[in-house]
Amino acid sequence: MASAAEKITVVCACGAQAETRPNKDGEPKVPRRWRRLSGAMVCHQCVADRYYTRAFRVPMRGLAGDTKDERTKKDFYAALTNAGRESAQFANWYVRKLELADDGYDPSQQATTKDGKTKLPALPAVDYYGDAVSRFKHISGAGLSALAQIVERYYRADRFAVLVALNRRPRSYRFGELPIEIRRQSWSLVREEGADGGSYWAIRAQITPGKSYTIKLWADRDAMVRLRQIESGAAEPLACKIVRASKPGPGGKPRKVWFFRIAALFPRVDRSKRATHTLALCHDANLLLVGRRNASDAAEDRLEIPGRKLRVMISGGDVADRQWQQQDSTARGLWSRRKRQRVFARDRASMASRRNLRIIDQIKLVADAVGRWCVSHDVGEVVYTATDRGWITHFPWYRLQAAIGNRLERDAIAYTVLGAAGKDTEIEVGKELAETP
Ligand SMILES: [Zn+2]
Repeated sequence: MASAAEKITVVCACGAQAETRPNKDGEPKVPRRWRRLSGAMVCHQCVADRYYTRAFRVPMRGLAGDTKDERTKKDFYAALTNAGRESAQFANWYVRKLELADDGYDPSQQATTKDGKTKLPALPAVDYYGDAVSRFKHISGAGLSALAQIVERYYRADRFAVLVALNRRPRSYRFGELPIEIRRQSWSLVREEGADGGSYWAIRAQITPGKSYTIKLWADRDAMVRLRQIESGAAEPLACKIVRASKPGPGGKPRKVWFFRIAALFPRVDRSKRATHTLALCHDANLLLVGRRNASDAAEDRLEIPGRKLRVMISGGDVADRQWQQQDSTARGLWSRRKRQRVFARDRASMASRRNLRIIDQIKLVADAVGRWCVSHDVGEVVYTATDRGWITHFPWYRLQAAIGNRLERDAIAYTVLGAAGKDTEIEVGKELAETP
């Protein structure tokens, strides 16, 4: 019988080897940076050659099919709320634990690195798991350890300020700010029959321990392509989380809704088989984007994307913003700061976030238009010259650049960005915590 300490060598189909230890069932554990794909161990290099990692979000639409009765519905939203609430409670509780573990830190015993910077001692190990599992019943054990990792990452980033500079408290967390992790074995993609005879996408997921629901999705075109790839087995799902974020509601007014955030490995398409026309993409005095295929000036080689709609949206926002500023400064001598805050700031923020959501929507449409044009015109490579874009101000160019990249990746079209300026005016878009897929 194999003892727990015994090492096992696993081999990838390419011949790469790695040493690992068995898990408690005697199966080899997946070595660091390797993956288990359809039962086989695959090395990091082979995974990177065959797949790219992408996470995407799909809003929840409500419960599916026969689980629609009022009680189940109430139950479902309570499960979401409880898990969201507990994830914040757990995070704040765990931050306290980390702080307490650091309590023995003595600033007079400071070590410095070679270049004179303060070297902090390693973060003491905190044994939280057993206690947390009995305390936070609405989150699975896997969910708790995923949250602990996020909290730890933020705590590490704050640690110098907290322990040495003494100018900050560790961050605290609020409802809905942290994702709810769903374990791999506890979710699956399903297609449900609709009353109208059509089918729609849904996810069957265990949201809190012991409670599973089938949840309909609002899948846009991009999400549908990706869900189909996961369903057919072409893409390998890695993680599924539930996050809370803004979505345009009726009249474009943003409201907070629950989303699934799915990360998966998507197959790379063999580029050598593809047509290799090149599209040179740039900005123009009047157009948001202009593309020329193979440096030709013929009409069929030209892609034009106007930016009128965006320009109107943005300049309208700028005008409204100036009006707010004016009213605010008029009120300055008359009203207290708190009153001005109450009257102006909130309306202004909600208007700005509504506009930002609309702009992001437009950017997605633009990226999709570029992607579709490239596919129908056999373009295998896009070179984007990201300069000369002064005609719209206050525009999140980095988002446009990234959105085009994401869209092209889906069809395995090579993408190069030239002359991207590092400093753009970025609009504030609903603060989200960075997560690892
Ligand atoms: Zn390999």
